[in-house]
Amino acid sequence: MKRATGINHIGVAVKSIGEQTAFYRDVLGLEYEGEETVADQKVRVAFFRCAGVRIELLEATGPDSPVARFIEKRGEGLHHVAFTVEDLPARIAELKREGIQMIDDRPRPGAHGMAIAFIHPKSSRGVLTELCEPGTVSDTADLTDLRG
Ligand code: ZN
Repeated sequence: MKRATGINHIGVAVKSIGEQTAFYRDVLGLEYEGEETVADQKVRVAFFRCAGVRIELLEATGPDSPVARFIEKRGEGLHHVAFTVEDLPARIAELKREGIQMIDDRPRPGAHGMAIAFIHPKSSRGVLTELCEPGTVSDTADLTDLRG
C-alpha cells in the first residue's frame, strides 16, 4: 500500500459561500483562490489556501445535491478530508482488496483538475474521506479566479 503524500484539502459544507468567504479570507487571513462548479457532484466550491492545504467550501447547486442532503441531516460544518495520492486507480484497487468500502469504484473529475474518489464513511468511522490525484483531468479552464 502506497502512502498518501499529504492532506490536499478539508471540505466544509455551507449554505452560502458568499456568507462564509469573509470568515476564511478576512478573519483567518487565508488566500482566496477562486471558485468552480463541479457539475458531477452538484456543488459550487470555493478555495482558500493556507500553506499547502486548502479549505474547500461546498455549496449545493440544487436540492438533490449530496451537500444539500448533508446539511439537511447534519447541518453546516466539516464535510470531508481529502488526501493526495499517486496513481488513484491503483489505490482504489488496493483499498478494495483491503475490504475498504468505496463510494467511487473508479476515479471521477473533481475540482482543480483532480481525479477524485470517496471512501465510504462506514469504512472510516464516520469521516467522509476523499482521495485525489492532482493534474489528471484536463478540463480545468472553468476555474474562475476572482482575486483581481
Ligand atoms: Zn473535496
